[in-house]
Amino acid sequence: MNHRKKGLWMKNEHIMALAAQLRQSQQSLRGRIVQQREGASSRIEAAAEQFGHPQDSHAQVTTARELALAMTELEIAELNALQEALDRMAAGTYGACTDCGQDIALARLQASPEAARCMACQSAHEHPAH
Ligand SMILES: [Zn+2]
Repeated sequence: MNHRKKGLWMKNEHIMALAAQLRQSQQSLRGRIVQQREGASSRIEAAAEQFGHPQDSHAQVTTARELALAMTELEIAELNALQEALDRMAAGTYGACTDCGQDIALARLQASPEAARCMACQSAHEHPAH
């Protein structure tokens, strides 16, 4: 059978499990960032107070933006990678390497669900042969 569609080649139960894993990682990463910042400074709390009541959903959005600004680039990149993986799931391209289009091994996705490339393309990306 060569007519298999690229992406979303996995069983739905695998996709669901990986999606849950991605959302969990997003939450724990956000929680970790908040904890770090709380220890280092009261910047986020100050921002939250400045933008009004926590019940106000607009204020929550603004506070979330403040929180995003307080993140380091690495943390932002990590969160982005998680979000992009969820976006690929929504787009139906999840599980296919973004570089070569080959299926990414399920074991690799289960180990790091945010992986966008297959092993070969990832190592080529990290260590370009010039
Ligand atoms: Zn690849």
